[in-house]
Amino acid sequence: MAFTIAIDGPAAAGKGTIGRALSRHFGFAHLDTGLLYRATGRRTLDGLAPVEAAQTLRAEDLDADDLRTPEVSQAASRVAAIPEVRQALLDFQRAFARRAGGAVLDGRDIGTVICPEAEVKLFVTASDTERARRRHKEMCESGHAVTLEEVRDDLRQRDARDSARAAAPLKPAEDALMLDTSEMSIEEAVAAAVAAVDAARG
Ligand code: C5P
Repeated sequence: MAFTIAIDGPAAAGKGTIGRALSRHFGFAHLDTGLLYRATGRRTLDGLAPVEAAQTLRAEDLDADDLRTPEVSQAASRVAAIPEVRQALLDFQRAFARRAGGAVLDGRDIGTVICPEAEVKLFVTASDTERARRRHKEMCESGHAVTLEEVRDDLRQRDARDSARAAAPLKPAEDALMLDTSEMSIEEAVAAAVAAVDAARG
């Protein structure tokens, strides 16, 4: 039976961490949809046109080891504003969302565009300072040499572009549960998300 958990929110708010934890807890498949845009953006840095890059995206493109750099983040956010790029990635995400056995997808437009019928919709946020601090720590730990200032600029620019675009802008679905994780530990945020899913499953 299909059961979809849609997680949206700005960059580095904790969507991925919560999504992975929910997928483990409930045994659902997990899709980080940002990876699709990152891989598409990555290909444009190699010279491919954005729409072609999205239409011909291959599974191995999602395995590139530099998809988390600020340069690729920015490229992802630029291609994500192009309606034809979003269209090219739509069917895959929709099919994933409604697969049998349950699915968790995190991104920007999961509850609004990809799967408005999702059984649970979460909109995860955290303060700008906290998001920059978390993402900076994560990047330093994975060996990327970036300053806190660079991370903050990247998040600020992407959030502004992602929210202002006409095509599937970043915004909460009307029936999304808002989860501000600024003052929460990972465990607390995951527990709140698990409780929301439990409540919806009845
Ligand atoms: O989630 P992540 O930070 O990896 O996403 C990278 C970029 O991809 C975002 O800044 C956004 O522009 C785009 N994106 C999107 N819709 C999604 C997921 C990501 O537009 N569902």
